[in-house]
Amino acid sequence: MVSGVRLVVLGKQGAGKGTQCVRLSHHYVVPHVSTGDMLRAAVKSRTPLGERAQADMDRGDLVSDELIMEMVRQRLTRADAQSRGFVLDGCPRTTAQAETLDEILLPETLDMVVNLEVPTHAVLRRLAARRVCEDCGTNYSVSSPPAIRGTCDVCGGEVVQREDDTEEAITRRLELYARQTAPLLDFYRKAHLLATVNGTGSADMVTRRVVRAIDRQLMDDRGRPRSEGD
Ligand code: AMP
Repeated sequence: MVSGVRLVVLGKQGAGKGTQCVRLSHHYVVPHVSTGDMLRAAVKSRTPLGERAQADMDRGDLVSDELIMEMVRQRLTRADAQSRGFVLDGCPRTTAQAETLDEILLPETLDMVVNLEVPTHAVLRRLAARRVCEDCGTNYSVSSPPAIRGTCDVCGGEVVQREDDTEEAITRRLELYARQTAPLLDFYRKAHLLATVNGTGSADMVTRRVVRAIDRQLMDDRGRPRSEGD
């Protein structure tokens, strides 16, 4: 019997990937593996990986495929991800990363790739208002701040605007997304793994749509819902 679920969530920066991935990891009881969070933690604690990644991240460029996929390989081969599965957030960003991910997962495969679709004008508005906990990565916004100003509700860390949420870096990341990441949609469409979900509306509404799409796919694949009883 196959255990757990192995999910990838794609979408432009600001499409709500982080928020939905946290919710999906709770719903399906799988680890949330965010390459952006792992890189930010590495930068903060000044590991060799963090030092190599920092300049690219500050510019809004992609970090090299080799560096990213070695980090992902190490994370996905840990016991929790092996036994339960994972929800992968922020990776793959290129077709080369998608191919390496397939190799890492062998003999298993991804169960599903969710593409959260949100129009560009809406993500620009969300990104300008986004605030994030420096320690645990919980997302807030100007209109939905933590209870105590500047202090994370979850861990007490400092809630700040991300350094790469400047207008210049955001524009660069959205251009990069269109050029390098959009071909991934074709890659996963051809593999019959892709479900595009409307990412507009409240976080609760989006979660309901995403869970419905995932459960439908898993029932088709396995003949019963994975979120119940596995
Ligand atoms: P994110 O939090 O996903 O927006 O990631 C923040 C930054 O980390 C990106 O702008 C990239 O510089 C880097 N990054 C995160 N994930 C990847 C990835 N899969 N491939 C390359 N760079 C990445």
